[in-house]
Amino acid sequence: MEDPAAAPALFELRITADKGAGLFALQDIPRGTRITAEDPILVLPPDTALTDYHLHFERMTPDQHNRFSELASVDYTIKPTLMQSIRQRLQAKYSGSALDSAVADCVKMYRIFKTNSVDMGMSGSLGAGIFPLYSRMNHSCRRNVHNTYNETIGKETIHAIRDIKAGEELVTSYIHSSVLTYEDRQETLHKRWGFECRCEACEDPKFEESEQRRQRLQRLGKGIAVYERNDRFLTHFAGQPVPRDDADVLSWWEECVRLFKEEGMVGYNLSAAYRRCSQYALKLGHGAKALAYARKELEIERVCMGDETDHLKEGMEGAKFWIEHLGKLSEQDAVIDRMNQKREGKEDKKAAKKAAKKAAKSKQ
Ligand SMILES: [Zn+2]
Repeated sequence: MEDPAAAPALFELRITADKGAGLFALQDIPRGTRITAEDPILVLPPDTALTDYHLHFERMTPDQHNRFSELASVDYTIKPTLMQSIRQRLQAKYSGSALDSAVADCVKMYRIFKTNSVDMGMSGSLGAGIFPLYSRMNHSCRRNVHNTYNETIGKETIHAIRDIKAGEELVTSYIHSSVLTYEDRQETLHKRWGFECRCEACEDPKFEESEQRRQRLQRLGKGIAVYERNDRFLTHFAGQPVPRDDADVLSWWEECVRLFKEEGMVGYNLSAAYRRCSQYALKLGHGAKALAYARKELEIERVCMGDETDHLKEGMEGAKFWIEHLGKLSEQDAVIDRMNQKREGKEDKKAAKKAAKKAAKSKQ
C-alpha cells in the first residue's frame, strides 16, 4: 500500500496579509479530489446553552485545548444578563480572581467556538463541531471546495468542486443561502464574522451579470416555493410570477441549473437543483429524463462528498438511493406493462375465437 505520509501535500497553511490564516494548494488539485477528512477536536450537542459551554471546554484534553485556543475569533458582544448567568454557574466552582479568569476563559472559548464551528448533520441535527483545518479556511461567495460532515465515516471532508490550480487558495462558503445578492452577503458576513468580503464573486469585473443571476435565482426559488404551497391567496399576492403547472416548475428548475453553472456555483446547489429537475420530470411521467437528471445529481454529489453516503439513505437524500427508487418504479412500470400486454393478448385471443365462431356459423 502507498504510504500516505510519502504523498506530496496537497495544500499548506499560510498567513496572508489581509485575511489571517488560509489554506493554499501546493499542486494542481483535480475536481472531485478529497482534500481532507478530519476528526473534530470539540463537538457541542444541538441547542447547548452558552452557560453550559464551560462544561464541554473543561472536558478537552490539554492538546485539544491548545489547538482550540490557537484559532481566530470575532469579539462578539455578550449581553450583561448572560455574563451574569455564566458567572453564577461558575461560582459553584470558583471564587475571587479564579472566578474572574474562569469567566474570561469561558467567554474567550465561546467566541472561538462561534467564529469557527460548523454544523454537523442535517441543519445541525448532530450539533456543531470544531475542525482545525476547516477552521483555517477562508470564505468565498464562489467557493472552490465543498465541506460537509460525513456521518458514514464520522469526519468533516473537504472536496475540490472544480479543478484548482497550484497556488490558489482553498475557499468555502460560510453562508448557507447560496443566492444572496452582494449587499445581503456583505451584511450577513459582517454581522457574523466581522469582515468585508472581497472574494472573486464580490470583486467580479462582470459584477452586474453575477448580481442579476443571483436576483433571478432568488425570484425563481420564491416563485416555486409559492407554487408548492398550493395556496391561491399566496399565489395572488406573491408580487412576482409563479409557475402555472408542473411543466413550468421543471423549466424553472432547468433555468436554475443553467444559472448556477454560469455563476460558477457548481457544488451542492447544482446537485440539489438536478434532484428537483428529476422529481418534476418524474411527476410529469418522463421516467428516462428523471433518471438522466438523477445521474447528473449523483455525479456532483460524488464530487462534493465521495461515495460513503449511507447516512443519506433515509428519505433518499442521497442521489444513489433516489436512483434506486427510480429503478424500482420503472420495474413496477415494466411489470404493469407486461400484465397489460398479457390481458390485452387474452382479450385479443377471445375476440379472435368469437369472430371465428361467428364466421363458421355464417358459413353453415
Ligand atoms: Zn464574497
